Amino acid sequence: MEESRTIEKVVNLAKRRGFIFPSSEIYGGLSAAYDYGPLGVELKNNIKRTWWKMFVSERLDMVGLDAAIIMHPKTWEASGHLDNFSDPLVECKKCHRRFRYDHLLEDKTIVPQHDKTKPIDPKDIVCPECGGELTDVKQFNMMFKTFMGPVEDSASIVYLRPETAGGIFVNFKNVLDTQRLRLPFGIAQIGKAFRNEITTENFIFRTREFEQMEVEYFIEPKGWEKHFDSWLGVMRDWCKFLGLKKEDLVEVEISEKDRAFYSKRTIDFEYKFPFGQKELYGLAYRTDYDLTQHQKASGQDLAYTDPVTREKFLPHVIEPSLGVDRSFLAVLLSAYTEIDGGRSTTTKAIKDVEVVLKLPYQLAPIKVAVLPLSKKEELSKVSQDILLKLKKNFVCVYDETASIGKRYRRQDEIGTPYCVTVDFDSLEDKKVTVRDRDTMEQERIAIDELAAYFQEKLNY
Ligand SMILES: [Zn+2]
Repeated sequence: MEESRTIEKVVNLAKRRGFIFPSSEIYGGLSAAYDYGPLGVELKNNIKRTWWKMFVSERLDMVGLDAAIIMHPKTWEASGHLDNFSDPLVECKKCHRRFRYDHLLEDKTIVPQHDKTKPIDPKDIVCPECGGELTDVKQFNMMFKTFMGPVEDSASIVYLRPETAGGIFVNFKNVLDTQRLRLPFGIAQIGKAFRNEITTENFIFRTREFEQMEVEYFIEPKGWEKHFDSWLGVMRDWCKFLGLKKEDLVEVEISEKDRAFYSKRTIDFEYKFPFGQKELYGLAYRTDYDLTQHQKASGQDLAYTDPVTREKFLPHVIEPSLGVDRSFLAVLLSAYTEIDGGRSTTTKAIKDVEVVLKLPYQLAPIKVAVLPLSKKEELSKVSQDILLKLKKNFVCVYDETASIGKRYRRQDEIGTPYCVTVDFDSLEDKKVTVRDRDTMEQERIAIDELAAYFQEKLNY
């Protein structure tokens, strides 16, 4: 596969068909900010909804939460974000562009910290844009800062959360006190997070505003390994469900020296993006670090008492952490399929490259396209009735322009699993033709049975 071309093609398709638009485009766009269009919001919601189903509602040991984005600033003092959540920043003395120093090292294939055998002489690293000399490295805190209320002074500084996990930890006691839960149990949250990245890159891969899906799974420290393995299995199932190919996924065991000091085990799920193998998800055993920190900073007792042994302790935590936008991008890249010469044999559609977005059916933004064979009123009437009926349960579109072959292609390109064709026979036999996106098989189905048919096929 010509990798560099694929990302361009996917970005192009995303824009052209209304999955993702550059943010505020009429004003020239805002760097690295994107808006999800009519198809994008459906796909994104489907990703989040399915995640919630798999990670929360189908399980017996999980509950959900939706915490505020702006939290008490002490949260970030306790978590260490205020002091440590920074990236190494260098500035070019000539053109004044700013860069992440560790990225410049990576570009020179020097892995910072990981590889201590290669000496790094900062003088070897120059501005990648103009070759100018760089300043010394400064630590740049990535939290977005703003003011709460009408007075802009240091006492009113607040931060947009840099991760959703904080909201879960500060609510641990509330959830425990109100939900009659026993260990092990987890709290999940989906929501926006913000990081003022020095450099953004690669479409929606690294943006300053993004969405996370996180779980904090509270356990007794003894036997943490089995919980870790179990979540590892859930994450593998999730990747499989998304349609990510096994050969594109790499599980990286993070070595002790590269892990956060409190973590006893961390595995990164990396995906082979066209622009390189990069982190997609993370799974970490964080011990009792977070609750310890929040207990200390808040002065509140966050301990759990075992109802049987009466033993009192701070639960430990396993954290599966997933990005919505990165999932979205990986799903699009995995689903994007080009078929040379096209695959249609029954129509006279132009024989060029045909694009099929092979999305898992449950994720497809549009489930059914209703296509009357002609614009004649008697067909429109039946077709509109079918559309209105199906729309109660499925996201559907209606398309009556261009040849049927072209209309199939339009739907294939956005991953619509089923097309319903209404023809003149439909008026007589009250049946329509249902075409499957992947097999291209066509089946004659009674109009009255359509809703039930799709219900079953789409596993709703
Ligand atoms: Zn420069």
